[in-house]
Amino acid sequence: MIPKMPAREGQVGFLFIPPFRIQGMSVAGEQTVIQIPELDVNFDMGQCTRSSLTSNRVMLSHAHMDHLGGLPYWLSQRHFQKLGVGQIICHKEIADPLRKMIESWSELERQKTPFEVIPMEPGDVIPLKGSMVIKAIETMHTAPSLGFVVIERRSKLKAEFRDLPQSAIKEIRNRGEEITDIVEIPTIAYTGDTEPCEALKSPELAESKVIISECTFFSPEHRERARIGKHLHIRDFIELMEIWQAQDVVITHVSRRTSLGYANKCIDEMFKPEIRERFRFLMDHKGNRKRYEKQASAAMEKQKHLSKS
Ligand SMILES: [Zn+2]
Ligand SMILES: [Zn+2]
Repeated sequence: MIPKMPAREGQVGFLFIPPFRIQGMSVAGEQTVIQIPELDVNFDMGQCTRSSLTSNRVMLSHAHMDHLGGLPYWLSQRHFQKLGVGQIICHKEIADPLRKMIESWSELERQKTPFEVIPMEPGDVIPLKGSMVIKAIETMHTAPSLGFVVIERRSKLKAEFRDLPQSAIKEIRNRGEEITDIVEIPTIAYTGDTEPCEALKSPELAESKVIISECTFFSPEHRERARIGKHLHIRDFIELMEIWQAQDVVITHVSRRTSLGYANKCIDEMFKPEIRERFRFLMDHKGNRKRYEKQASAAMEKQKHLSKS
């Protein structure tokens, strides 16, 4: 007998939820890194995947190793590949130790790796890209933690002007009067690691179109473990799925011991079909590939149709 070959590992999960690609790896306690290339952002950096290098920012939910372990490598590799200064957005309570960690890594490598740390508190908002901003929300975990909501800010003609002809609106604008209101549209939310908390029921979360949420535990025997580790259990989603309007709830941070088959069985038993069909798993490689192939063939059909007409 010869020893077994090592298990294949490290496949990147992928979901296309138009217009966003959600790609990365997430297993509880091992690593979580979720990139949205369209927003130039990575949520957490538990492991530096090749594609995560191309986004300039890491929104760090908290500093547990499975969310942070890839950060020095990400910064150093971006510097090596001349990809510019990496930006790390984190809870203000961990900003100093984070800077110290990165600086001591530079000392070890004997090279100056540029970086920028931007501390945030719950409620803070920073610009993200174009009309998108990102807001930090207060999650509850065993270490200082944040969740994030990407919000689109659109200007909309004020209600009182909506029925006026163009010429009249132009005249009002020329007088220097403000003719638009800013409306905020929550787009994508990321929970990071958290126990059930108020922020998860906030209007921003409730109205987000896509929610990337942790759900570490599924088995009824693991409710206590979820409570102690301050994580979500699938039972918590009975309430959350009623509040959340998101048509796509992307489940991440499932524990290694929970098989996809078992997780799906729990969901089937607990939720009625119209709720059940809103769940996706980032690491369901087979299911997500099928979904993508369907999306690709539908896009091809549409293209054919367009070129004919
Ligand atoms: Zn974690
Ligand atoms: Zn954690």
